[in-house]
Amino acid sequence: MATETTSIPMLDSFDPWTGNVVRRIPASTPEEVREAVARARKVQPEWAALGPAGRARALAEVRHRIGQRMDDLIETISRENGKPRAEAVAHDVLPTVFTMAYLERIAPRALRAERVGALASPLLGMASRIEWRPFGVVGCIAPWNYPMLLSFMGVVPALLAGNTVVLKPSEMTPEVGERIGEVLEPLPPGVATVVQGGGEVGAAMVDAPCDKLCFIGSAATGRRVAEAAARHLTPVVMELGGQDAAVVCEDADLDIATSGVLWGALLNAGQTCCAIERAYVVEAVAEEFERRLVEKAGRLRRGEDVGPLTLARQRDIVKRHVEDAVSKGATLLAGGGGSEDGGWWFEPTVLEGRTDDMAMFREETFGPVLPVIRVRDEEEAVRRANEEGFNLTASVWSRSRGRAERVASRLKAGTVTINDHAVTASAPWGLWGGVGESGYGRLHGKLGLREFAVPVHVARNLVPRTKRPWWYPYDGPTTRTLRSMAELMSGAGGPVGAARAAGSILANVGRSIRTKL
Ligand code: NAD
Repeated sequence: MATETTSIPMLDSFDPWTGNVVRRIPASTPEEVREAVARARKVQPEWAALGPAGRARALAEVRHRIGQRMDDLIETISRENGKPRAEAVAHDVLPTVFTMAYLERIAPRALRAERVGALASPLLGMASRIEWRPFGVVGCIAPWNYPMLLSFMGVVPALLAGNTVVLKPSEMTPEVGERIGEVLEPLPPGVATVVQGGGEVGAAMVDAPCDKLCFIGSAATGRRVAEAAARHLTPVVMELGGQDAAVVCEDADLDIATSGVLWGALLNAGQTCCAIERAYVVEAVAEEFERRLVEKAGRLRRGEDVGPLTLARQRDIVKRHVEDAVSKGATLLAGGGGSEDGGWWFEPTVLEGRTDDMAMFREETFGPVLPVIRVRDEEEAVRRANEEGFNLTASVWSRSRGRAERVASRLKAGTVTINDHAVTASAPWGLWGGVGESGYGRLHGKLGLREFAVPVHVARNLVPRTKRPWWYPYDGPTTRTLRSMAELMSGAGGPVGAARAAGSILANVGRSIRTKL
């Protein structure tokens, strides 16, 4: 939240545990954003020249710095985000260093030029390779819910791919943004700059313009960013929200499934892009599933297991969704209320009877609320999981590997997890990205590194002293040579046709070349 004092725009750093403002941090001006992008553009060639291994070594220094500042980072994230300390480690610091260590290791290979068309390309007398070259300056725009991990998930692959970066963390977590700027200090000046501020600062980054954008946030803002980026033809990785589904099969281990689904729905007080917002449970086990789930929800400890919501605004959305659902016929099985004692708390909530007229059906709730939906069988579960919301990820819970795989193969999501949920955000060897409303483009792994590289086809003429049969002038032998190539590739005449086409190429290609200008 930005407020003005004299002429410097300031960002409030809140303590969601109490609802108080604890610090005020200066925001960047649009002019400073443009300067940061210009500086990043200036130093980019030198950074790119280090090569993937050199860049990985430089990033390892940042990773070590994170290790040295670990307690400070955990404390800041926990305080400003309202997370228990265990979550600040498990969901921000640990996956950040895990992702860095993994990507640093695979970057040299993932970004190495790749020879392609070894068999086909000689037909055109050519050798081909794909090179992965940097875009230039990447602008990363991050949300507040995992303020460290989601900043680094864009920044790290972008830097490893040879780009320089300007990062705008969320204005809701400016102190974490400040800490991120400090741990990036071992990099050469200008290579990775943190700018602070809200939508107007993000918009200035888009319009700077950057050469590639990594946007992580809501679909509504994502649409605005995509429109603004389109004016510059800037490509964007779009990591948006989700209303993830869990499908609990008849043969699920109910002890495991209730623990896993509860965590998958409530982690970070449910303020997770891939939190379970719909659990489809097969009727035959639904009663027992609900009984165990409610019993476990009742054992969660306020503050130690589930923290407050990060924003007052978010607490109000959650409250509105739950009240709306109850007024339209949903049954509360656990929780359902907030507290007004300063912090932005909302009880872990389980409800049954989510229907399509409810706000939580159309919008992400992003809170500690788990709707359980009873279904006749897996068939109905899969259909409704695909139709009644958008899945960034989805999960299947079953004791049978075959059954789980069959269900998993039919779920529409960027990631499908069997007997677990949400953990893949911390699995840097996989991928991170959505389908449909949950976004496009990929972070993590080889695909994530290549997301920040322009694939360039470098083609070398294998017979540079010879004129090409398709050059001017076009004459009979030229047409016959090219037609025979097409005939050969069409495969229409079978082996006999292929032999005839090859013969025709050999008979005409020399004559066609001799007549070239
Ligand atoms: P948000 O869309 O409100 O803001 C995200 C970022 O965009 C912030 O840094 C914000 O300042 C910036 N921004 C706002 N207006 C802008 C503009 N016009 N131009 C450029 N930047 C602008 O999202 P949020 O509330 O911070 O985060 C919550 C949302 O993010 C949820 O929908 C959640 O599901 C989603 N999310 C997605 C992922 C993922 O990996 N797919 C991860 C975490 C969160």
